[in-house]
Amino acid sequence: MVHRTRRAVLAASILASIILTVWVGSNLARFVTDGWWLAVLIALPLGVATIDVLSGVVHWACDRFGDAATPVLGPLLIRAFREHHVDPRQMVEHDWVETNGEPCFFSALALAVLALLAPSVQSGLGAAAVAVVWTMAAVGSWSNQVHKWAHMSRAPRLARFLQRAGLALRPDEHACHHRAPHDSGYCISTGWMNPLLDRIGLWSWLERSLRRTP
Ligand SMILES: [Zn+2]
Ligand SMILES: [Zn+2]
Repeated sequence: MVHRTRRAVLAASILASIILTVWVGSNLARFVTDGWWLAVLIALPLGVATIDVLSGVVHWACDRFGDAATPVLGPLLIRAFREHHVDPRQMVEHDWVETNGEPCFFSALALAVLALLAPSVQSGLGAAAVAVVWTMAAVGSWSNQVHKWAHMSRAPRLARFLQRAGLALRPDEHACHHRAPHDSGYCISTGWMNPLLDRIGLWSWLERSLRRTP
């Protein structure tokens, strides 16, 4: 019963995320016709980069701190990330609802707030803020799907097109994270930010800084 209720909530979250993405997206079209096209144009790649960094931060934190027994976050997040290192291809067996339900749940919440705020936006700055969060939610909804594609030996044609175009995480790029000690390539939404964040050593710097914190 608990399992069926969970599945129903996850499936509803996916549907809500899709509907709200289109709904709030129509407001973005209004922003463009209202003359704030430059704000929207800048906000879109900024939103993609921001959700990619956010996916990296969550992944890094779950890989490096706590364990499956950590209260709340252990069973909710950490266990799945750790098990993914042991058996990377297990996620390929997950169906559409299991793969995408949880990210869509959180994205749908953010999109619901945007749906309330977007119609009253009256400035370019407001339009840019809505466009950034909309892009984060729209891309974030499918982070697990994109990650799953990167592990499939034969991904769908659309996935391979997006990977080649640099719009989805590439398997060769993600493979570096699956080599011990799993300390690079944490970003899994699009992977755009991995080269920069790995090169500047953000993750090791964050860990050193946190260890120094009393
Ligand atoms: Zn990992
Ligand atoms: Zn992976």
